[in-house]
Amino acid sequence: MTRTAAYATPAADKPLRAHSIERRAPGAHDVQIEILYCGVCHSDLHTARNEWHNTQYPCVPGHEIVGRVTAVGSEVKQFKAHDTVGVGCMVDSCGHCRPCREGEENYCENGFTATYNGPMFGGENTYGGYSTQIVVDEKFVLRIRHTADLAAVAPLLCAGITTYSPLRHWNVGPGKKVGIVGLGGLGHMGVKLAHAMGAHVVLFTTSPNKEADAKRLGADEVVISKDSEQMSKHTGSFDFILNTVAAPHDLDAYLALLNRDGTMCLVGAPATPHPSPAVFNLIFKRRALAGSLIGGIRETQEMLDFCAERGIVSDIEMIAMRDINQAYERMLKSDVKYRFVIDMQTLKDEAKAA
Ligand code: NAP
Ligand code: ZN
Repeated sequence: MTRTAAYATPAADKPLRAHSIERRAPGAHDVQIEILYCGVCHSDLHTARNEWHNTQYPCVPGHEIVGRVTAVGSEVKQFKAHDTVGVGCMVDSCGHCRPCREGEENYCENGFTATYNGPMFGGENTYGGYSTQIVVDEKFVLRIRHTADLAAVAPLLCAGITTYSPLRHWNVGPGKKVGIVGLGGLGHMGVKLAHAMGAHVVLFTTSPNKEADAKRLGADEVVISKDSEQMSKHTGSFDFILNTVAAPHDLDAYLALLNRDGTMCLVGAPATPHPSPAVFNLIFKRRALAGSLIGGIRETQEMLDFCAERGIVSDIEMIAMRDINQAYERMLKSDVKYRFVIDMQTLKDEAKAA
């Protein structure tokens, strides 16, 4: 066991603060990783504040981890000391159910082990990336081929795969008109990835001041979603819409924009339900409303390699560990361009000084 510096929250209504946790010594199949950077996902905030009513405390969030291998177990084949690696939202799964055998551990029928808040599916508690090191089974460790900008690679581990997986599943590519709803952490990766896949990309935002950024990131058009006139110009025209919004909102306004057989996929996971969609919007054009949860390990590696080949990373604001509570407040106001990433050196320094 190794005593490890972390930031944790002891209860839903308390801020995150310095804390220490025990990490296991690496077993035969384990990789021990010094964490360099960790992205700040809106799911971290939902979980820290128990908005999904399943949080086990103390809670150490963080599932967009980039780090360096410091030690490997005797049976580890794919990684060695000094490799640059990533860890996303999962650290284990049953390995034998059908989704696991098909490489979709994110849909494990026995519940994968989440990188933090493991009991989400009934296991023991796990502690995430707001910490200086982590030990993970090599099956859940990703190879990072980017050679620069490692801090900006971290958000690919959740925001990247959560948008890449549905864009691939619904065959986004040249000739397709694709909407991305919300320009936050997930949304800005959705815009970059859909653009890189060759689609015509339309960004829907509630924030008029994000228009120029959206175009720079790869959007062909920007629609201010509160403006019904702008919205109605796109009625019945989308093949696919990826909705990343973290709050309940009217889904009908978007369903009406899908063409016949078009699909809107929800990845945003608000604390309270959306108003139900109107049936007629769906049945008249055989439209579909769907959902998607992160992505499997094989697809996460594919996404990382896709991004490394094209030089795609996240647009980030680097913060010190002690600034995390303030970062959560800004995230709630959609005031982040477009992902906070924690420089873990700041936690190492803080722990050394204490
Ligand atoms: P984020 O950075 O806070 O971005 C969310 C964006 O939604 C905001 O930037 C804003 O964009 C828009 N928005 C916020 N409140 C809104 C409202 N009331 N009405 C309309 N639009 C609003 O969050 P994130 O990290 O991208 O995460 C987004 C959601 O996805 C969260 O619920 C998170 O838990 C969930 N998530 C799901 C998965 C999965 O596997 N399905 C994985 C990771 C995260 P504009 O300013 O452009 O309007
Ligand atoms: Zn996430």
